[in-house]
Amino acid sequence: MLDDHFHVDPYHGLFLDAVRQFHRAGGTHLMVVYKTARDYGFRGGSAEDFMKAMDFHVELVERINRETDVKAFAVVGVHPAEFVHLAEQRGIEYARNEVMKALEYAQKLCLEGKAVAIGEIGRPHYEVSADVWEASIELMKYGMSLAKEADCAVQLHTESFDEAKFRELGGYVREVGIKPYRVVKHFSPPLVKVAEEVGVFPSIIASRKNIKEAIEQGNRFMMETDYIDDRRRPGAVLGPKTVPRRTKAFLQNGLFTEEDVYRIHVENPEKVYGIEIEVEP
Ligand SMILES: [Zn+2]
Repeated sequence: MLDDHFHVDPYHGLFLDAVRQFHRAGGTHLMVVYKTARDYGFRGGSAEDFMKAMDFHVELVERINRETDVKAFAVVGVHPAEFVHLAEQRGIEYARNEVMKALEYAQKLCLEGKAVAIGEIGRPHYEVSADVWEASIELMKYGMSLAKEADCAVQLHTESFDEAKFRELGGYVREVGIKPYRVVKHFSPPLVKVAEEVGVFPSIIASRKNIKEAIEQGNRFMMETDYIDDRRRPGAVLGPKTVPRRTKAFLQNGLFTEEDVYRIHVENPEKVYGIEIEVEP
């Protein structure tokens, strides 16, 4: 039982307790995604800050692996909101340079086996100037090209998505030349067929409605909560138990077959991230 997009925050959230809640509900594997340098207590003003925050993130993931029964994998990058913030403070040129250096460090962590994907990178989900928007897309493509070079995955954060936007993203995937199953659209709507057509792998928010719509089109997707682990924003997203709970419920009411569950929780993540998932009998 794998949650494909889960954050932990030892300062503002429950951290290991959230992971243990996930485990008690039947969860076994987590893609733990970097939050922001600021969330981790760094300034977020330079490449060096981002790199320190990524190291901090890798340590959090190591702690999960040491101190809980959940197997966690790290996803590291620079959140698009961090680029926007830095560009507004210090100008686009400076911000672009720093973020590029930081993304190269994320690639290094993937090559060293400390992380399995670069993310979440992409473009902001709120209105920004045309220049910042263009630069965000350039950085997203740069992150994708780094992932291609390292043969690792990317997790993309974007504004809310529809079919036309999937097609736009498919254009970037082809332009960069990254393998289609390495590009994960985090917070994806249940457009399973469109995503497959354009060469993007959907990670779908595990609401009942979404998953029902998704499975009607096939099982080429992963499930996520985007749990943010922030006590200041309770209920802002789905709770840590949602993915295993909903998976079990869907299996029980016949919306998922055993094969669907195996595909969604084992085969799909193994292929996307190039990892091995041990299944307990
Ligand atoms: Zn997230």
